[in-house]
Amino acid sequence: MVAGLGGVASVLVIRTLLFDGDDTLWANSHHFEAAMVRWAELVCAPGVAMPEGAPGVPAGGWTHAAARAELNRVEAANFHNAIGTFGFADNLRVAAATIVRPEALAAIHTQCANLVAAMPTTDAEAFPEVPAVLDALGERFVLGLVTRGDPTEQHAKLASSGLGDRFRHVAVVPAKNAETYAGLARDWGLDPAATVMIGNSPRSDIEPALAAGMGAVLVSHGETWHLEVVDLDHLGDAFHSISRFEDLLTLFP
Ligand SMILES: [Mg+2]
Repeated sequence: MVAGLGGVASVLVIRTLLFDGDDTLWANSHHFEAAMVRWAELVCAPGVAMPEGAPGVPAGGWTHAAARAELNRVEAANFHNAIGTFGFADNLRVAAATIVRPEALAAIHTQCANLVAAMPTTDAEAFPEVPAVLDALGERFVLGLVTRGDPTEQHAKLASSGLGDRFRHVAVVPAKNAETYAGLARDWGLDPAATVMIGNSPRSDIEPALAAGMGAVLVSHGETWHLEVVDLDHLGDAFHSISRFEDLLTLFP
C-alpha cells in the first residue's frame, strides 16, 4: 500500500535513488524461464534421462518437475558463484549430469550450450512505464543503477534499454551484499541515510541495502526468483513495498 505513507522523501530528505536493472527496469527472468522449460524437455526425453529404478533417480522417474527441482538445488548451491548466462549454463550442465544417461551426456551438454547461446542476453526493453517515471524522479533526485551480473551483458542491456542517460551512477557488481552498497556509497559520495535502493529482489536489493543504512523499496510484481524469496516481516520503517513502478511517484513526491 502506498496510500497513507505521506511521501517518504519529505520525511527522510532522500537525495539519491538507486535502481536494480533486471526485472525492475526491464524484463529478464522470462528468458531464463523459457530456457529452463526447454532444458527440462531435453534432459527428460525418453532414452535420455536415467530410467526409474536406477540409483539416484527419484520415485516416478525424471519428470520435468523433478528435473527443475534438481536444477533449483544446483542453483541454490552455486548462487554466489554463478554470474550471468555463463553461470546459468554451468548450472544446466551440472544438473543435467545427475539426470542424463552417461552415453547421452555429451550431446546434452552441446544442446545446453546452444540453448544458452540463443538467449538474448544483450537485449533489454524497458517496461513501458519506466522511462517517464525515471524522467520525473530525475528532476528531483540523483539516480543510480546497481545491477548484478556479467559486466558485458549488463552494460549491453543498459545500452539496449535506452535508459543509460538517466543515471549519474552505474555499477555492475558480482554480488549485492551490504559491503557492496556501503562501498558504492563511499565511491559515489552518497549519504546512506539519504539514499534508497529500489528493486524486485528482497535478497539482493532490499536486505543488504537496509543493512548498509539505506532505505529500500521492493517493487514486487508477478514472479520472484525462488532464490530471492526471503522473509520481509522483520524489516523496519526504512522499507516499503509497492506493486507498480509508477507508485514511486507517490512515494517520492
Ligand atoms: Mg532484479
